[in-house]
Amino acid sequence: MSTVTTQPATAVREYANFIAGEWVRPRSGEFAPNINPAHRHQVLGLFPRSSAEDVEAAIEAAARAFPSWSRLTMQARGAILHRAADLLEKRLEEVATALTQEEGKTLAEARGETARGVAILRYFAGEASQPLGEVYPSASANTFLYTTRVPLGVVGLITPWNFPVAIPLWKLAPALVYGNTVVLKPAELTPLTCWLLVDILREAGLPPGVVNVVFGRGSVIGDVLVRDPRVAGISFTGSNAVGRRIYDEATGRGAKCQCEMGGKNPMIVLPDADLDFAVELTLSGAMRSGGQKCTATSRAIVVGDILDAFTEKLVRRAQEIKVGDGMDPATYMGPLVSESQRQQVLEYIQIGRAEGAELLCGGQALTEGEYADGFYVQPTVFGNLKPHMRIAREEIFGPVVGIMHARDLDEAIALANDVPFGLSASICTRDLGAAMLFAERIEAGIVHINSETAGAEPHVPFGGVKESSSHSREQGKAAREFFTHVKTVYLDKPPVR
Ligand code: NAP
Repeated sequence: MSTVTTQPATAVREYANFIAGEWVRPRSGEFAPNINPAHRHQVLGLFPRSSAEDVEAAIEAAARAFPSWSRLTMQARGAILHRAADLLEKRLEEVATALTQEEGKTLAEARGETARGVAILRYFAGEASQPLGEVYPSASANTFLYTTRVPLGVVGLITPWNFPVAIPLWKLAPALVYGNTVVLKPAELTPLTCWLLVDILREAGLPPGVVNVVFGRGSVIGDVLVRDPRVAGISFTGSNAVGRRIYDEATGRGAKCQCEMGGKNPMIVLPDADLDFAVELTLSGAMRSGGQKCTATSRAIVVGDILDAFTEKLVRRAQEIKVGDGMDPATYMGPLVSESQRQQVLEYIQIGRAEGAELLCGGQALTEGEYADGFYVQPTVFGNLKPHMRIAREEIFGPVVGIMHARDLDEAIALANDVPFGLSASICTRDLGAAMLFAERIEAGIVHINSETAGAEPHVPFGGVKESSSHSREQGKAAREFFTHVKTVYLDKPPVR
């Protein structure tokens, strides 16, 4: 195995793509700085801005590796994932620190995400000893009739910056254990964590070509991966604008495709809820990770006469939040991932004000003192949110939550459902009947009762309805549906002579 491109001791390190088991310089010869969003002048490394040729080399390597990888036993493939889980656990602090430094979330959140990565690898390693198919009775006494599952071939994985450990791993681990080979295109803003994950898989003994990583801009190299006929499946997580185009392109040429996209997730608070508890759930769902989660709470729908008390408490708590560098243990909310993400959030705040929503706290960029070098925005709460407003319907992806009022549970559920998205939703109540009615009627792929909208365990299906998803699911047993085809086998006894 060759080593990473060498650099003078004082220079910022140049990283390389990983193709056919080798770290290789991009053929473009171009690199982009990986910036710490808490300290914009801190460059964490230089990462390839790859070209189409790099993607093609990665696809070629994955195609060459497929026959031998897919013929290994599942147990042999699972054993590599087991070793990778152990190595990731050992290197947890290193990976979590890289994650906080390049993405901005707090170190506690980064440790949690990395530990989840370990759990994902262990779960799919364990899948290697689970049944792959079913045996059916046949109309013929001579026939043994069964199903099994086979890998798709080369799969392309395209991932976002907001969970750069968990999301690549929840695609990679099932892709690999079921026998696929991979070309991974991580988000340009968070390449370092992905580099570390691949280094761990390499160290765990993954054969050359089984996983290939190409760093660079999705708008330049993404299409090359999506259009290539050698790529049998595309698994994408990211925005709706990009996901819809990828879905049309990939399925248009007959490839399998799954897209997990945005959310506009509601928290309904009923009058019988413990208000402090409901406020903490709303705050955490809206502000942790700077609101940059697909499952973040962006609407609080408050029922009945508790509106004023809930609003007053939420605003007070939002104003108390400690914003700062995620490496500081006192920090509750770090910076946004980039200047352009901050601009997008500030624009939405202006739109909300112009639409007539009442700005109750926050609403500004933080630019002085310790904040001068980072991409910070104040935790922001809007009151008087109305269902027709853009800030009530569109994904903001920042630390912004709007409060709506509903007369009763029926109206609250109707408001919650009145958006194009349907990823996650929560209700806070002690009323079991209300909770069950909510679980039945809410249009969401993930339903929480007395827990925040964000948060998902690694062994159960994850995904949304309506425009949040291409109607597939990831993680747990659901991952098998995407990363395999079902094969039905009629096995007949030969004639006895
Ligand atoms: P994004 O802009 O759509 O990017 C996602 C990935 O697609 C990145 O790797 C990006 O590369 C790549 N890409 C961009 N243009 C492309 C193209 N033309 N062809 C192929 N790939 C292309 O999304 P993001 O800003 O990274 O992530 C935030 C979004 O992800 C939010 O909408 C959030 O809700 C969603 N999300 C959904 C889930 C879920 O499971 N439902 C989970 C997490 C996040 P570059 O980085 O180089 O642009």
